[in-house]
Amino acid sequence: MKPPPFEYHAPTTVEEAYALLGSLEDAKVLAGGQSLIPLLNFRLARPQHLVDINRIADLDRIYERDGGVAVQALARQAAVEDSELAARICPLLSAAVGLVAHRVIRNRGTVCGSLAHADAASELPAVLLALGGSVVVRSSRGERTIPAGQLFAGVFETTLAPDEMIVEAWFPALREPFAILEESRRHGDFALAGVVRAGPKLALFGVAPTPVLADPRDPARELQPSGDLEATPEFRMHLVRVLTERAFAA
Ligand SMILES: Cc1cc2nc3c(=O)[nH]c(=O)nc-3n(C[C@H](O)[C@H](O)[C@H](O)COP(=O)(O)OP(=O)(O)OC[C@H]3O[C@@H](n4cnc5c(N)ncnc54)[C@H](O)[C@@H]3O)c2cc1C
Repeated sequence: MKPPPFEYHAPTTVEEAYALLGSLEDAKVLAGGQSLIPLLNFRLARPQHLVDINRIADLDRIYERDGGVAVQALARQAAVEDSELAARICPLLSAAVGLVAHRVIRNRGTVCGSLAHADAASELPAVLLALGGSVVVRSSRGERTIPAGQLFAGVFETTLAPDEMIVEAWFPALREPFAILEESRRHGDFALAGVVRAGPKLALFGVAPTPVLADPRDPARELQPSGDLEATPEFRMHLVRVLTERAFAA
């Protein structure tokens, strides 16, 4: 299917981008397009305006900040996967990004886009949560930092205001043992359930409307995962227990 009609905007500066987001009714940021374009094509999203940020210069850096790794809005997932800096400071991030979809999708998809999209089965939101990272967002009202624990609000829902864009994600350094384990039907598919271990901390994905922190000793307590054609709730709970055990035995 073809997308519904929309007006296309291609700002060349961050200031221009958030001015557009602040002045246009019903606008969406277009980054890698790996989630948004399929949603448009299936007509599951019908924004009036698309603000394509791909022409903004100097927004694709991956750099060291406050001892952690800062990933700007246009840094592609593949660039983070290949980044020596990310591998040195936060190897969990490098491992996680390699599990997102397939390389051809990671060549376009962005880390910040994945966080903004907030798919409950995505790896990167759970990694940000387990690490206690944050995102920096900007709008014409100024800049603010949202900790991961306050970013994910529901299924495909964040606490970003409609006029705000993520300019950068920040992943703290991790030198403790880590693991990211998931189960999916085919390589590259979204996970049926997954776990992220960052030192003593555990985050789960694919089993609740948002990524959640859990107690490694009893990770499925309080979980009420949904069932679908791919997996029953019981199977998802079982996966969480088995994957957690493996993550902490590793
Ligand atoms: C076949 C296939 C398999 C996939 N498998 C996985 C998987 O296993 N795991 C996984 O995590 N993902 C998977 N994805 C999704 C992929 O990782 C996307 O790239 C990612 O979710 C979105 O990043 P993007 O840059 O493409 O964002 P876009 O598609 O451009 O945007 C997605 C959403 O985020 C918003 N957005 C984007 N950037 C910003 C920003 N800077 N500020 C504010 N809002 C913003 C957009 O407005 C839109 O609502 C898959 C995609 C496909 C097509």
